[in-house]
Amino acid sequence: MSVRTTPQTDGAIAPPTSYRAAVVHKFRSPLTVDQVPRPVLMPGQVLVKVEACGLCHTDIHAAHGDWPVKPSPPFIPGHEGVGLVVELGPGVTEVAVGDRVGMPWLGYACGSCEYCGSGRETLCLAQKNMGYSFDGGFGEYAAAYARYVVKVPATVDPFDAAPLTCAGVTTYKAVKVAGTRSSDLVAVFGVGGLGHLAIQYAAIAGGRVIAVDIHDEKLELGRELGAEFTVNASKEDPIEAIQRLGGADQAIALAVSPRAFEQAYGSLRRGGTLVFVALPADNEVTLPIFETVLNGITIKGSIVGTRGDLGEVFELHGAGRTKVIRETRPLETVNESIADVEAGRVAARIVFEL
Ligand code: NAD
Ligand code: ZN
Ligand code: ZN
Repeated sequence: MSVRTTPQTDGAIAPPTSYRAAVVHKFRSPLTVDQVPRPVLMPGQVLVKVEACGLCHTDIHAAHGDWPVKPSPPFIPGHEGVGLVVELGPGVTEVAVGDRVGMPWLGYACGSCEYCGSGRETLCLAQKNMGYSFDGGFGEYAAAYARYVVKVPATVDPFDAAPLTCAGVTTYKAVKVAGTRSSDLVAVFGVGGLGHLAIQYAAIAGGRVIAVDIHDEKLELGRELGAEFTVNASKEDPIEAIQRLGGADQAIALAVSPRAFEQAYGSLRRGGTLVFVALPADNEVTLPIFETVLNGITIKGSIVGTRGDLGEVFELHGAGRTKVIRETRPLETVNESIADVEAGRVAARIVFEL
C-alpha cells in the first residue's frame, strides 16, 4: 500500500530526500554504505533521525541469511536504533516530534490477536521486525511504527539506550523467563553484547552469577559487572566447573554455538531451567531425554521482550542500576565491525554513531 503523507514536522528542518545507510545487497557479501531515498510514511509510522544504533549479532545473522526465515535483500539492518522523531505520518498520536525513541526488533504487531491481547506481543504472528522484515537503524533516518517505539527517558544517554533496545530488553526478559530468585546460581553462557547485561540483570534479581566465555577479557569484564565465578570454556570443562559449585539453578544460553547450549544444559542442577536465547546458524542441539525427565529439567525459549519490558530496562538504567559497555564507531566501519564481533574482538557492544 502506498499512501500520501500529511507530514507534521512541527516547524523542524525538513528531512532530506535521501540519506546514508548501510545496505545488505546479497547474503554473505560486504554491506555498502549507500545514499537511499527517504521512505514514504505509512499510516501510524514516524520518521526518526537516528543518533545511534547498536550492532547486534542478529544483524550479522540477517546479513548472512543464517536463519530458516530470511530477510529479502536489499535491506537495511539494525534494531537497536535510537533517535529523535522528526515527522509524524497519518494518524500518529503516541509520540510527538522531538521525542527520543528506541526502535526495537518488535517493530510492529497486530495489537488484537490472542498473543497481543495477553501481554505476549512478541509472539504475534503478524509481527514485523525492524532491520529484518522492514528497514532498520543502520541509516541516518528510519521509519518506525509509533505504537511500537519506546520513549527513551532523559536520564538515559542515547548511546546507552541503543544496546538496551535489544541486548538489554532481551536479557532482562530472559532472566524473568528463567525465574531467577535470591541466591539462585545462574550460569550465563556468552559474555558479549547480550551477556554483559544478562550478568547484571541476574544479579539484580538476586542471583549469584557464573560467567562463561572463551575469552579471558570477557570474563574479566563479567567479574567487573557482578559475576562471582567465571569459567573459560576453551580451557576448562564448564559442566564440571559448574557442577563442582553445585550445579546451576538456571543457565542462559547466549553464545552463538550449539555446543555451548549443550554445556549449559549439562551445567544445571536437578530441577534447573535452561533458557535458549542465542540463534546460531547451526540450528540443532542434542540433549538427552532420560536425564531431562529424571532430573525435572525445564527448557524454555525466550524472544526479545515487550515494550513494557523495555520501559523497565530504561528505568533501571536511568536509576543507575546497570552499565552499558560500548564502543562508538562510524557506520562506514560496518564490515570490519561485523568481523570484530564474529572474532570476539569487541569488549561488549559496538554502537554506530549516525
Ligand atoms: P556477541 O557476539 O556479542 O556475544 C556472543 C559471546 O559468546 C561472545 O562474547 C563470544 O566470545 C561468546 N562465545 C562464543 N562461543 C562461545 C562458547 N562456545 N562458549 C561460551 N561463550 C562463547 O553476540 P550477541 O549480540 O550477544 O548475540 C548472541 C546471540 O543471541 C546471537 O545468536 C543473536 O542472534 C541472539 N539474539 C537472540 C535474541 C532473542 O530474542 N532470543 C535477541 C538478540 C540476540
Ligand atoms: Zn538484537
Ligand atoms: Zn498480534
